[in-house]
Amino acid sequence: MPVHVGMTLRPSDSERLVMTLDVPTLLFAGVTARCCYVVVFLVSGLRLRDEPCLLHWSGSVACSIIGTLIHYGDGGSGRTLTPFEGAVAHAFFGGSLALCWSGMRRFHRLPIDLRGATLAAVLPGLAFAVPLQLGFGRSGALTGAFAVLIVLIVATLRELARNRSRGAEWSRYVAASGLSVYLAAFATSVALFLAGREVGDDAQSANAALLIDHACSVLIYVGFLAMAGERCNARLTELATTDPLTGLTNRRGVFQAIEQGRMRPAAVLLADIDNFKAINDGSGHEAGDAVLAEFAARLRHVAGPRALPARWGGEEFLLLLPPRLAGAGADLAERIRAATEAEPFRAGGAPLRVTVSIGIAAGGGDLGALLRRADGALYAAKRGGRNRTCAAPETVAGAVAEPAAA
Ligand code: GH3
Ligand code: MG
Ligand code: MG
Repeated sequence: MPVHVGMTLRPSDSERLVMTLDVPTLLFAGVTARCCYVVVFLVSGLRLRDEPCLLHWSGSVACSIIGTLIHYGDGGSGRTLTPFEGAVAHAFFGGSLALCWSGMRRFHRLPIDLRGATLAAVLPGLAFAVPLQLGFGRSGALTGAFAVLIVLIVATLRELARNRSRGAEWSRYVAASGLSVYLAAFATSVALFLAGREVGDDAQSANAALLIDHACSVLIYVGFLAMAGERCNARLTELATTDPLTGLTNRRGVFQAIEQGRMRPAAVLLADIDNFKAINDGSGHEAGDAVLAEFAARLRHVAGPRALPARWGGEEFLLLLPPRLAGAGADLAERIRAATEAEPFRAGGAPLRVTVSIGIAAGGGDLGALLRRADGALYAAKRGGRNRTCAAPETVAGAVAEPAAA
């Protein structure tokens, strides 16, 4: 939405600007760019049904195009808008900002007060028309309209600031910078009007307004697009690193956590459900799946928030322990074994008794080295009769690769 600043640029600067970026050129560039945004938002919004914010933002751009064409459609000829045209243009600018705001609400999966949003959309038009009718002149009308637009910008900025802590999208700062420049421009205009400055209807004023408008709209809408893109990427990454059956991190997720420094494993527990094939064969594959999901839930519960539980593959699970938990590996393994055996698993039909064997490895080396040692210990636990935990030799001082009988 154009900021109708009540100021003119210094002649030398403005002359140069008018020569190179005259109002029709800026109008053409602004409207063309926005038409592209409308198409991109619309097509993406129709394809990504769980991102309704895109449709709101598409509407926002469309409103700003209409408002801009009404306001500057004459190419900056200096013609004063009729009160009706001014009111309608500002209602569209209000609609554009209201849809920015509602899009941000939908982005955060928050409800929208439709009546409030509609009122907010038409209010700038009313705030423009009423002061005119009351004889406050164009400065009064613009002060009223801008005051409402400022409130809408602040409301949108507040929504942009939501949920900042949870790995939020960096691109929201791009959108926020565009809105902040708008805010500063509107606030400056209001201050100038209140100080008695008259509205400039000349080409330089229109030129400055369209330049600010063009730069801000690029920042806002590219920022919005990037936010939606960032979130889609984050969701894809989550899907690619999560095991759908158990909800645990998968193998790829483990490598990613280590690569990104979120986990520095100082010990690993490799757990393998005993005689799982017999569960599948005796109770069916579905019951087997239910056992895997239930085991994952018990593993997660015992592991606590600092360890990283993962489904390593099939009926094998991995628990990565950070350095401060490295010494607790044997104790944790025993608690996981006991929690598995304690209660029968509810897997559709009759309760199933399930047990698990666990190999533990701690100490130096990379994940591969830890895994090899944990695998050896797991093999020893299986050989020792299953339903037991076993530590690799160097894991605990004095430990031997004998299964620690449960
Ligand atoms: P052990 O005590 O030696 O570990 O014997 P086991 O039967 O548990 O091991 P085995 O390797 O012989 O069998 C593992 C079975 O797990 C075979 C495979 O079909 C089954 N399995 C692997 N992934 C899944 C899954 O996602 N769902 C189900 N239901 N079964 C799976
Ligand atoms: Mg296995
Ligand atoms: Mg097994």
